[in-house]
Amino acid sequence: MNIADLFKHKTVFSLEVFPPKKYSAVETILPTLTALKNVNPDFISVTLGAGGSAQSDGTVAVVNLIQNHLNIPAVAHVPGLYQDQAQVDQLIQRLQSINVNNILALRGDQIPGLAPRGEFEHASDLIEYVHENYPDVNIASACYPECHQEATSFIADIEHLKLKIDAGSDHLISQLFFDNQHFYDFREKLALAGINVPVEAGIMPCTSKQQIERITQIAGVPVPDKFKKMMNRYANNKVALKDAGIAYAIDQIVDLVSQGVDGIHLYTMNKPEVAQRIWDATKNIFGASEIKDGKIHVK
Ligand code: FAD
Repeated sequence: MNIADLFKHKTVFSLEVFPPKKYSAVETILPTLTALKNVNPDFISVTLGAGGSAQSDGTVAVVNLIQNHLNIPAVAHVPGLYQDQAQVDQLIQRLQSINVNNILALRGDQIPGLAPRGEFEHASDLIEYVHENYPDVNIASACYPECHQEATSFIADIEHLKLKIDAGSDHLISQLFFDNQHFYDFREKLALAGINVPVEAGIMPCTSKQQIERITQIAGVPVPDKFKKMMNRYANNKVALKDAGIAYAIDQIVDLVSQGVDGIHLYTMNKPEVAQRIWDATKNIFGASEIKDGKIHVK
């Protein structure tokens, strides 16, 4: 099943998880995934460290659990910067052998001190290669409502995004953001650039000030004053910060869905209880569908 087809039927609600650090502990994620099934995700994507093939066993095992044990469509993240063609071939073929045909094609984060392989310098190179060599694989890619931190200009970043769509990506998942207006402005830029594929909005609920500060700093994502004030006010009260962070995420989601967003991609940080609270508060605003025998049924 091509997950891009889901957008024809409903506002998509998808989740992102990361695999356990050690492959030997991979099954410890099963209770998390089982709990996440309760929030009725349209698909779950699984990250893969920028190093690529060296860490891919965990990602492959987790997408296998999601797709073949829990019967939820799974998407494997595939970063290309530190992989060569043979490694990408091997990874795609392993995914296909377990019936996973949806990937999120990425350049991947740069690893200081490690030389890139040079074959997939940009995500668009990887998308072009996979699209040409594996026509059955559906390719999502990443986008940045507040511009990618390395881009020389927002215009250049959008031009590079267009290259990814022209190379064969049929769905975008956005970087996290905390100001919906920036996402709406971005959608207008995409329309002007002729980018018409579904765009999911990436939402990360704040449950820890340190975690949000670390992630936004690495990813170069701006944090609005309003959000900083919330984090500072409840920095020493974990329970209150969780309540406030979840409420903020719910507020963002309700506004985005009201403004006709194609989908919400929730960065779960492997915390099913947070996803559950968000889902409980918003489930009726998403259209309902289920997948049976590989086909989408709208309820
Ligand atoms: P690209 O699309 O290649 O863009 C990277 C930069 O290069 C941009 O500044 C762009 O403007 C520029 N660029 C692109 N093409 C060209 C060109 N032809 N010429 C000149 N400049 C160009 N990282 C991981 O390692 N593992 C993950 O699992 C992972 N999951 C992610 C999931 C999502 C939803 C998102 C948004 C990001 C994820 N990342 C992950 C992080 C991602 O790898 C980084 O943000 C990375 O810095 C950029 O990846 P990209 O695929 O967007 O790169």
